[in-house]
Amino acid sequence: MSIFDLDIIKAELEGKENAKKLLLKAEEKKIINLNIWVDNKTLLVADAYVVYHNTSRGPAKGGIRIDKNVTLEETTDLAERMTLKTALTGIPFGGGKTGIRLDSLKLDSYMKKEIMKELVHIIRGDLASGYYIPAPDMGTGPKEMASIYGELHIPECVTGKPIGIGGLPGRREATGRSVSFSAAYGAKKLLKKDIKGLKVAVQGFGNVGSWTAYFLHEMGAKVVAVSDVNGGLYNAKGIDINKLMAYVDKNRFVKGFDGDSITNEELLEVEADILIPAACENVITSKNAAKVKARLLVEGANGPTSQEADEIFENRGVEVIPDFLANAGGVIASYIEWKSAKSGSLTSAQEVFEFIDRTIEKSFTKLLLLAKDRKLTNKEAGLVLAVKEVTSAMENRGWI
Ligand code: NAD
Repeated sequence: MSIFDLDIIKAELEGKENAKKLLLKAEEKKIINLNIWVDNKTLLVADAYVVYHNTSRGPAKGGIRIDKNVTLEETTDLAERMTLKTALTGIPFGGGKTGIRLDSLKLDSYMKKEIMKELVHIIRGDLASGYYIPAPDMGTGPKEMASIYGELHIPECVTGKPIGIGGLPGRREATGRSVSFSAAYGAKKLLKKDIKGLKVAVQGFGNVGSWTAYFLHEMGAKVVAVSDVNGGLYNAKGIDINKLMAYVDKNRFVKGFDGDSITNEELLEVEADILIPAACENVITSKNAAKVKARLLVEGANGPTSQEADEIFENRGVEVIPDFLANAGGVIASYIEWKSAKSGSLTSAQEVFEFIDRTIEKSFTKLLLLAKDRKLTNKEAGLVLAVKEVTSAMENRGWI
C-alpha cells in the first residue's frame, strides 16, 4: 500500500482530488535488466528498478540499494519516503530511488563498479540533466558513487562521493547524526529526560546504525544492544562503540565482541528507553509491537514499523519518531554536497553537523506543535506537513 493512501493523507487532501491522484502514482517507474559480464564467459542479468515519485519541489533524490530482496514495490515506497523527507525538512529536492535485486554480500567492489557503469549507461540522460541525483543506500557506498561520477564527470550528478573527489566531510556520518540528534531531542521533548544515561538498543550496524550508536555513545547514552544481519550483542553495562567500530572494521560483523549473544528479534524487545531499528523495513509489526519495552522508537531505517504496529504504539503511549524526519540527515548533507559541487565551495564536517541539527530541530518543533494542536501522532503530523509542502509546489507549478 502506498503511504499516500493512509487515512490521514486522504483526509488532509479532501477536495484536492488531483493532488491525491498525483501523489498516489509515481511520476515514472523504470524496470531495467542490468547486463553485467562477470568474466569473459559469464553474463549476469539483474532486475533493477528506478522510480521517480514526485519532482515538483526539485530533482528526484534518492539512494541506490543493492539487496537480494529488492522489489518494484519496495523501491516505490522508498521513493515516496524521499518525497516526504525532502518536503518535511525543506530541502529543495523531490523523491526518487533505485533498487538492484542482487545479494550485495556476494559482490566485490569490481562487480559493484561494473553494475554502476551499466546503470549509468541506461539512465545517463536523467543523471546528466540533473533530473535524478543518486546517493548511497544499503549495499552501496562512496566507492560506487565515485564510479557514477567517473562515468559522467559532473560533480553535482551524484552525492555521497568519497572525500577528495567532491565528497563532503560529514556525509558518511550524516544519517547517524540526524538519527542520534532526533533520539536526544525526542527524549528531551517527549520523555522529558536527558539523553545522558538513557539505555539505547540499535538494530543494524552499517552506515546508519554504527554512526547513530557512535553519536549517542558520545552524548553519554548507554548503548546496551546492537546487531547486524548475523545477530546481536547485549551488554547491560553499555557497549564501547569506538572499540566495536574498530572490531567491525576488521571482522565485518558484531558477533564475537564483548557481550551476550542475542537474536535480532530479541534485540527489539530488550530493556531499553530508546529503540532504534536502523537495518531494514518491516521489522516491527503486529506480532512484536506489544513486546517492545522502549518508550521511544526512532526510525533509523526506512519503514521499519508497520501501520498495525504504529496503532499498537499509539495505544500503548510509545512515541515514534518517523523515518522521514529522523533519518533525513543523509539527504540534508547531500543537499550541501550538491550545492558545494555547483559552487565549488568547501565545508567542514562540523558545519554539516550543525546544519543537520538545526534543520532537524526546526522540522521536529513544527511537527510537535501540529501533533499537539490537532492531537495527531508524530508520524501523522509529519505526513500532514510534508503533504502540504508538496501540494503547494504542485499548485505553484500548475500541475494541479
Ligand atoms: P548498510 O548496508 O550500511 O547497513 C545495513 C545494516 O543492517 C548492516 O549492519 C546489516 O548487517 C544489517 N542488516 C541487514 N539485514 C538485516 C536484518 N534482516 N536484520 C538485522 N540486521 C540486518 O545500510 P545503511 O545505509 O545503514 O541503511 C540502513 C537503513 O537506513 C535502510 O533502511 C536505508 O534505507 C536507511 N537509510 C540509509 C541512509 C544512508 O545515508 N545510508 C539514509 C536514510 C535512510
